[in-house]
Amino acid sequence: MKKKIAIIGGGITGLSTAFFLQEKLNREGVSADVNLIESDARLGGKIVTERVGDFIIEGGPDSFLSQKPWGINLCRKLGLIDRIVQTNPIDKAIYILSHGKLQKFPEGMNLMVPGKITPFLLTPLVSFSGKARMGLDLFIPRENNVQEESIGSFVRRRLGEEAVATFAEPILATIYAGDVEKLSLQATFPQFAGMEQKFGSLIWGGWMRRWDTHLAVGAPPATPTERWSLFVTLKDGLSSLIQSLQKQIKDVTVQTGQPVVRVSPRENQYEIVLSGKKLLVDAVAVTTDATMAAEFVQPWDERLSRQLFSIPYVSTATVSLGFRRKDLSHPLKGFGYVVPRAERKTILAVTWSSSKFDGRATASEVLIRSFVGGAHQEEVVDLPDDQLMDAVSKECGSVLGISGEPTASCVYKWRKANPQYNVGHLSLIAEIEKASAKHPGFFLAGAAYKGVGIPDCVQQGWETSEKMIRFLKASL
Ligand SMILES: Cc1cc2nc3c(=O)[nH]c(=O)nc-3n(C[C@H](O)[C@H](O)[C@H](O)COP(=O)(O)OP(=O)(O)OC[C@H]3O[C@@H](n4cnc5c(N)ncnc54)[C@H](O)[C@@H]3O)c2cc1C
Repeated sequence: MKKKIAIIGGGITGLSTAFFLQEKLNREGVSADVNLIESDARLGGKIVTERVGDFIIEGGPDSFLSQKPWGINLCRKLGLIDRIVQTNPIDKAIYILSHGKLQKFPEGMNLMVPGKITPFLLTPLVSFSGKARMGLDLFIPRENNVQEESIGSFVRRRLGEEAVATFAEPILATIYAGDVEKLSLQATFPQFAGMEQKFGSLIWGGWMRRWDTHLAVGAPPATPTERWSLFVTLKDGLSSLIQSLQKQIKDVTVQTGQPVVRVSPRENQYEIVLSGKKLLVDAVAVTTDATMAAEFVQPWDERLSRQLFSIPYVSTATVSLGFRRKDLSHPLKGFGYVVPRAERKTILAVTWSSSKFDGRATASEVLIRSFVGGAHQEEVVDLPDDQLMDAVSKECGSVLGISGEPTASCVYKWRKANPQYNVGHLSLIAEIEKASAKHPGFFLAGAAYKGVGIPDCVQQGWETSEKMIRFLKASL
């Protein structure tokens, strides 16, 4: 008998699940109707690209890591490999705002770990005693038996307090829009925990990394001969990944503008309730945020629901502003800057989008994207758009010497949309997996669980499709 499958959520996780399912069903000769149900009018979830005049503006992610091969490999399967754009190979500098001025991130740093001696010794970002304390990492013995530890506690222990405030907090925590004292090192940057365990020192481990790239970067390149820049994007913006997936999942019935209101087990099946419609399926993959998943399971598994509700989320926003190049005194040579909390600014980080990637603006214009909100300043996201743009414009204006008005602007707000992998996340996910395994045919995947990056979500889509196929074949 023909099986029925539902995928709830049409973000990158849900679409990847659908894509890989279609591929495997065809290959393995399993007959099934696959339905992908998305509440929004458009697919893509957090991935959204907008064209404003000649600007290509990303509302959510603007790129993805090439070192985790899932993103690049999906692009290859979709025929998008020639559309991949690498970062500017010449001006790769990143800056840190320090006392209102931009200072270059010391060359050779692996996030907060010094890699080259001279640039590190010369940087004005860290005091003499701070540098000496960071150097002690070479002699401090490794800590054994650490299950999960906050990024703050780990960096303080190995590199000292200044390294926390100057590097870990504005760089590591900002990637997750989180709190450095709460985010789990093991769930976010496990490579540093691995370096401590393997080499007994982050600095020594960084040097050894030349001979052991796998440990340092987490994954080998997509294929052995390929060398991509650390971050890559697509020529027409990341939404082209979504459009391509949408085009290629021909065997999947896609319904947009259809919020799922209930998911209930019915004998060996699940009843999916949409507004005014019901669907009975043999297997369901929930790829929404964990809060929505918690609401679905609440009536029939209170404990799993509580576990899902306990994954915290914070709000963020991106504010993209276009300017005439002649209206800026700063040359924008580099990828942008991060802002430590001590600077007391609204902005967490700024990407010089038109410098980082070709084709985001014309030669006579620049595109600047600011990231605001996060664990310490969520309330900023509630400001009306014009006030938020004003605040961002003023802060960028004073740092970059902007004299003219923006020629384009775009605000995207992501309310309670950034999952926080706080200390305890790994054990919580293990418990969630155990609890959901008690419901045959019910699968959870997405940014809340095993990685927030696009490649992590694609990987989860692949794994979910694998589990669903195995489940369907076992029940044939
Ligand atoms: C501002 C920002 C910047 C980021 N930058 C980067 C970056 O540069 N690189 C990177 O790799 N990652 C980045 N990320 C993270 C990455 O974009 C996300 O983790 C990823 O896109 C999440 O994909 P997902 O499919 O798991 O979830 P989502 O994209 O959230 O998709 C879930 C979908 O489920 C739908 N849904 C919810 N409830 C229901 C319901 N009841 N019924 C039906 N559908 C429902 C939603 O509408 C949504 O479309 C960024 C995220 C943000 C917010």
